[in-house]
Amino acid sequence: MMLKEIKKDLYSSQTTLVAVSKTRSQQQILELYDLGQRDFGENRVPELVEKYEALPEDIKWHAIGSLQTNKIKYIAPFISLIHSVDSYRLLYKINREALKNDRTIDVLLQIKIGMEEAKQGFKMDELKKLLKKEKSFEAFANVNIVGLMGMASFTNDKEQITAEFKSLKTYFDLCQKEFFNAESFNTLSMGMSGDYKIAVSQGSTMVRIGSLLFS
Ligand SMILES: *Cc1c(COP(=O)(O)O)cnc(C)c1O
Repeated sequence: MMLKEIKKDLYSSQTTLVAVSKTRSQQQILELYDLGQRDFGENRVPELVEKYEALPEDIKWHAIGSLQTNKIKYIAPFISLIHSVDSYRLLYKINREALKNDRTIDVLLQIKIGMEEAKQGFKMDELKKLLKKEKSFEAFANVNIVGLMGMASFTNDKEQITAEFKSLKTYFDLCQKEFFNAESFNTLSMGMSGDYKIAVSQGSTMVRIGSLLFS
């Protein structure tokens, strides 16, 4: 069990650990739960809903994968944080479902930092334009934009990964200063099994770790 080692790495920076439990059994989740872990992340809605219904109520569920707008309604009643908002349209729909459930949903805007073409997320310059133009981001009364999320390139090049995380942190600081309330815009979700130590060194406040934790 790697939980202890990982928690030790996160301790001094007070970084939140999201245990990425996609494809893992309920039993495996409960083993971590019994050790005190409460934040779990999933990337598929049906699996997320099934686990939410079966597992303890005080688990905080995180949606980390690309999210289809027609699936939001299934997680809107309980989701703790959506990491993967990559379009204005998605934000609009999350707000609508949150309203229907009479709650406010915390979300992160996903930013494209990796080199892979397929990586989802807002491009930094595009989002900046949108934020400048659309004060309406703030008009979504039932959505709280609490920060940003990004995934580094799949590479062993540590300098490359460091540079990507650094650029996301710089962008996060800029958004916090120019566009959001710094008190509530306080979460920077970056770092996975292979690169979380680099992410933490670059100012991550939340890491999403799967394979390392469950291996
Ligand atoms: C699967 C996944 C993770 C965890 O990846 P590991 O390499 O297993 O730690 C983190 N973030 C997202 C968005 C994922 O889909």
